Parts: sequence; structure tokens; C-alpha cells
Amino acid sequence: MDFEFASPVKIVQRTARDFARQAVAPLVPGMEETGKFPRPLIRQMAEVGLLGLVTPKKYGGSELGYLARTVALAEISKVSAAVGMSLQVHHMQAAALLDWASKEQKDEYLPRLCRGEYLGTVAVTEPTGGSDLLGMATTARPERGGYLLNGSKCFITNAHLSGAPMIVAKTGEGSRGLSAFIVEKGAPGFVPGRNEHKMGMRGADTGELFFKNCRDPASGLMGDEGEGMKAALKTISEVGRPGMAAVALGILEASYDEALKFSKSRTLYGKPIANLQAIQWHVADIMVDLEATRLLCYRASWLKDRGRPDAATAMTMAKVYATEAACRASRKALEVHGGCGTMMEYAVQRLWRDAMVCVSAGGTTEIGKIVLSRAALN
Ligand SMILES: Cc1cc2nc3c(=O)[nH]c(=O)nc-3n(C[C@H](O)[C@H](O)[C@H](O)COP(=O)(O)OP(=O)(O)OC[C@H]3O[C@@H](n4cnc5c(N)ncnc54)[C@H](O)[C@@H]3O)c2cc1C
Repeated sequence: MDFEFASPVKIVQRTARDFARQAVAPLVPGMEETGKFPRPLIRQMAEVGLLGLVTPKKYGGSELGYLARTVALAEISKVSAAVGMSLQVHHMQAAALLDWASKEQKDEYLPRLCRGEYLGTVAVTEPTGGSDLLGMATTARPERGGYLLNGSKCFITNAHLSGAPMIVAKTGEGSRGLSAFIVEKGAPGFVPGRNEHKMGMRGADTGELFFKNCRDPASGLMGDEGEGMKAALKTISEVGRPGMAAVALGILEASYDEALKFSKSRTLYGKPIANLQAIQWHVADIMVDLEATRLLCYRASWLKDRGRPDAATAMTMAKVYATEAACRASRKALEVHGGCGTMMEYAVQRLWRDAMVCVSAGGTTEIGKIVLSRAALN
């Protein structure tokens, strides 16, 4: 067993770390304040290769794979989980296109995603409930050589930053009754709604999409009619869940650093609070959660890079553990800070708010546990 990264992964890690410190960190206060994603960052992420990590070279990507992606997402999320989440969803649409799109669709959309013309989007969730995929109400009715879309999506990452989101809609009944579409921004009847006002992940764009008699040409269908459920589930489980796990890993790393820094600098009873056993226990708990998360995330990505069938289970495990661990660790880091932890000028309160958002984005812990118990019991 070799725990050393190969050289290309080390380069990606260094590039993402430098980019996060230099280009992302100065934007964090503004994102917290306004709740808006800074659009110029999209092109900048493209320039350093972050947008095309899982896309083949022939479409403008680097094809470095999922371990490189995990490491990059963690580095970005250590500085801004909101930017990490936006980037991970971008990779979701790229991966979905690779798996399900026609040659023409791949030729058209993958280079645009790599160039940073816009951020990728995968719109599945509706007000009827994200966990209940088959309960969705958005319909796509065949009409005059295309489809007529009606309905709405909510909680969609990059909703206002996308040029051509992937939309899952009903074309029939049951699990073969969902289909996936690419809908161009500006298509008549396609209207983005509000940008949500969130407790955490403030800089990530999370919004609604409305379809009112929106006409999508037949060329917008991704894969065959009826393959939407498979496309959504594969993309969520094999790209979305490990992506959110990597974002949570970044939050854990930042929580660990903040807890260490504060416990060494804050003095009580004439000594740094790092001398207090209760503080040492908090630090040790965060340390164990961080290392366990790291190993789960790296192993899951390693399995995915090798096309192993057990990758999806490993990724769900990583998602469930990492997001819950990020909540525990950021809360402990916050407690180490005492009252200071609740003050907005300390990063640790943001880490805790962001960690809480990670639990439902990409599928909740409860749904993750259902998936895992099915894998174990079947
Ligand atoms: C910041 C953010 C970004 C997001 N980005 C996207 C995106 O880009 N694209 C997208 O399509 N969606 C996105 N989502 C939606 C996300 O996938 C859903 O929030 C998630 O799937 C849960 O759906 P819900 O919020 O409707 O909760 P519900 O499905 O209503 O669930 C409510 C509660 O019931 C529990 N529950 C549901 N079913 C079961 C069950 N069978 N057994 C036990 N408990 C159950 C859930 O775990 C949860 O605790 C995002 C969400 C957030 C918060």
C-alpha cells in the first residue's frame, strides 16, 4: 500500500493550494457579506486547470482523475467551502456529459465547461423533496421534434452561473419515466428564479429554475429517453457525494488548523489553553476525524480512478462520514475558541455553518445510510 501521491497529483495539490490562498482567500469576506459567487473566478479556475480535472484532454481537460479532484477540492474548500462546492457541482455536469451525452453534445459542451464559459449545473431537486426523485413534478412532453418542459427546480448550485444546465424531468412513470436534458440559458420559457439566502456556503450560488412551456430541441436529450434516473443517481453517487466529501475534508483541515492556532495563542491562568486537558481532547478528536475522513476520501477516489465496482459504496461512506465529521470538528473548534468562536471575525463560525450545509447537499446522511445498509444487507 502506497500513501504517497504520484507527481501529477502533488502538482495539482500545490496549484490548488496556491490558487486558494492567492485568488480565493481575498474574496471570502465579500462572499460572506453579499452571498454572491464572484464571476471572474470562473475563468481564473479554468486558467489553472481546476475546471477540467475529470475531463479528457481532447475536450480541453487534464484528465487527471478523481484523486486529483479530491485533493484539489479539499485545498480550495479549506479556504472557501462555497467555492469548493461550486467547483464540485461543475465537475458533476462534466462527468454526466461524459457518461450520457451524444458525441455532438460532448463536442459542444465539454470544451465550454473547461474554458470556464460558465459553471456546470445538475438540476434534480424540486420543492416536492430532493430525497424523493420519483416524486418530481417537472414534465418534458414530446412535441414537434423536441420537448416541452414545465415545472421548477430548487436549491440548484450554480443556477445563475450556468450556460446550459442538465435538467432531469418526467417523460413517463416509474424509474424509467425520468429523462435528462441540456437546456440552453436564454431558451424561451426558461427563467432562473431567486438566489437563496443561506446560513452557510454563502458565496455559492444556490437557486431556482423555472420552466414555462420551455421548448428544448430533441438534440437536448442526454442519453435515451427514460435514462434520467440512472444518469442522476450515477452522477450524484459517483461524483456529487465524493465531491461533497472532499469539500467537508477541506472544512476539517481548516477546523484543525484554527483549533491549534487558537489553543496555542489564547492564555488563561497564565498559560496557553493548549495546556488544558479538555482542549487537548477536542484537538485529538478533530485530529482523528480529519485523518479518518482523509483516508475514506482518498480510497474512494482511488477506487473510482480504477473503475472498481465498489467505488460507489466507498464514495457514499466517505460522504456520510466526512460531512458528519466536519460538523463535529468545526463545532469542537468553535468551542475551543470560547466566546470568540461566535464572533464573525473568526473563521471558525463560518466553518461550522458551511459544514452544516454539506450534510444535505449531495444527498442527506439518512439517504446515504439507506444506500449503505442496502449495499451491506444485499
Ligand atoms: C446548498 C445546497 C446545494 C444543493 N445543490 C443541489 C444541486 O446542485 N442540484 C440538486 O438537484 N439538488 C441540490 N441540492 C438539494 C439536495 O440534494 C437536497 O437538499 C437533498 O437531496 C435533500 O432534499 P430536501 O432538502 O428536499 O429534503 P427532503 O427530501 O424533504 O428530506 C427531509 C428530511 O427527511 C429525511 N428523509 C427523506 N427520505 C427519507 C427516508 N427514506 N428515510 C429516512 N429519512 C428520510 C431526509 O434525510 C431529511 O432529513 C442542494 C441543497 C443544498 C442545501
